Amino acid sequence: MNGRWDQKGLPHKGWSCDDVIDLGSDEAMDDSDYATCKMCGQERVRYVHVMSHPDLSESISVGCICAGKMNGDYEGAKRRETTLKNKAARKAKWLSRKWRTSMKGNPFINVDGQNLGIHKSKTRWGYRIGKNFGPDLYPTVDEAKLALFEAYWQKINSDDQENSN
Ligand SMILES: [Zn+2]
Repeated sequence: MNGRWDQKGLPHKGWSCDDVIDLGSDEAMDDSDYATCKMCGQERVRYVHVMSHPDLSESISVGCICAGKMNGDYEGAKRRETTLKNKAARKAKWLSRKWRTSMKGNPFINVDGQNLGIHKSKTRWGYRIGKNFGPDLYPTVDEAKLALFEAYWQKINSDDQENSN
C-alpha cells in the first residue's frame, strides 16, 4: 500500500517543511501517542513533519522518510528530527541535573556559559536566562525549570539559525 503517494494530482516534489513536532511526552509512550504518516500510511511516527506545497491549501503530516522524499532533502529532514530528539533527551534529564543554590537560596545552573536561574515571587516561581526574566510565573519549582528549559532551547536554536545564515 502506497497511501497518498498513489493519489492522482498530489505532487510528489516541491514540498517544504513548516514544522517538526515531537508527539512524545516525558512519560513512556504507548501506541496511541504515535501518528501515522499521511503520505504512505505506514510509518509509526513520533516526530511529525508538517509539509506544505505552494499548489495546495492543506498541509500534510508525515514521517521523516516521506518528508525527505517530498522536499528532496532527506538529510535536512533527518537533521530537524535529530534536533528534536536531542531536545527530548536534554529535557528528560533537565530536572535531575545538578542545580546549585544561590546565596539568596534560589536554584540556578550554568549551561554552555549561560547562567540560568529560578526565583520565588511570593508563592510562585519564575525563571531567568542571564539577566532576562521570563514573562510568566509557575506554581512549582519544577514547572518553572521546565519553562526555563523551553525558553533556553528556543534561544539557543534561534541563535544557531542566525549564525548559519
Ligand atoms: Zn511516510
